[in-house]
Amino acid sequence: MTVEGIVSDPAEEGPGEYDVIIIGAGPAGLAAGIYARRAGLNCIILEKGVPGGQVLTSPLIENYPGFPEIPGMKLMDNMAEHARRYVDIREGEEVVRVRSGERFELATNSGKYHSKALILATGSSHRKLEAPGEEEMIGRGVSYCATCDGFFYKKKEVIVIGGGNTALTDALYLHSVECKVTIVHRRASFRADKHLQESVHSRKIDVLWDTVVDEILGKDEVTAVKLRNLKTGAVTAKPVNGVFVAVGEVPSSQLASELGLNMDAGGFVIVNQSFRTSVPFVYAAGDVSGGIRQIVAAVHGGAAASLSCFEDLTNPYYKRTE
Ligand code: NAP
Repeated sequence: MTVEGIVSDPAEEGPGEYDVIIIGAGPAGLAAGIYARRAGLNCIILEKGVPGGQVLTSPLIENYPGFPEIPGMKLMDNMAEHARRYVDIREGEEVVRVRSGERFELATNSGKYHSKALILATGSSHRKLEAPGEEEMIGRGVSYCATCDGFFYKKKEVIVIGGGNTALTDALYLHSVECKVTIVHRRASFRADKHLQESVHSRKIDVLWDTVVDEILGKDEVTAVKLRNLKTGAVTAKPVNGVFVAVGEVPSSQLASELGLNMDAGGFVIVNQSFRTSVPFVYAAGDVSGGIRQIVAAVHGGAAASLSCFEDLTNPYYKRTE
């Protein structure tokens, strides 16, 4: 099923000309696509990889209303299939340059596009620990994705670093695939949701509190980590096969910088309640705009951004002041 545009007709405007281009096909971008097309905007989603964003790596989602328990990949497959009813998702097409002017001009690895508006839904990426040995051991014992790599560590000794929702979800996943898991956290309490903490506790997963990883050791693959207790200063070596880093996210805001958008100290794009940014006709939603970073919030942001974009492009009767 496709939906006819009411704002502009691609046939009249030529190839690569759109009302709005959405960058990123995670939950925010997919929701934005559905809402933009249903509002009659001529749009496209450009996605550098495959649709789904970081949710793809989440083993189980339990807090997206309507789906009490659903694997992240399944939820995002459903969302992408739904979005494709309305909007073309160009996979593997990375936006490498963006310019503003009379229209926005985008260059991707395989083409050029123009649009009257942009929605940035570029998401975020895993924060690195910045410990010696980390970079060299990526793929050789260091991982940022328990669902992707956990199975290789069945019955082996692994640590998960961090105390947020991702760290505890990862620890539970690794425990369920029979890894010997220890969580290493720099403070004496978790910030993760209560029910995740209870699950970790009830499964008797070991936790090393007030502890940081100073170095990841090994030659061809990880063999141990050097740990430091922040309270006592004691330094120990713990033999491990796998190190799962789950210490938060950094926004993917390079395009936002190119556009000169206002950003906060952490590099997240500042948006108002309508998901408008500091630059007219540019909107941002999902992880790149910070906030609570939940799927439900990303979906809300994407939908709201598209409706704001519709209002700005069409100046509908209910917004006119004269
Ligand atoms: P997060 O909530 O920012 O937690 C990052 C954790 O890593 C914190 O415990 C932090 O410690 C620790 N940390 C940060 N830098 C560190 C460093 N250099 N060395 C050691 N530890 C460090 O990140 P997240 O867990 O990836 O979650 C990101 C967002 O996604 C959150 O909003 C989260 O709620 C959401 N999320 C939700 C779900 C869910 O709802 N099921 C699942 C996954 C993620 P401190 O606590 O001391 O700061």
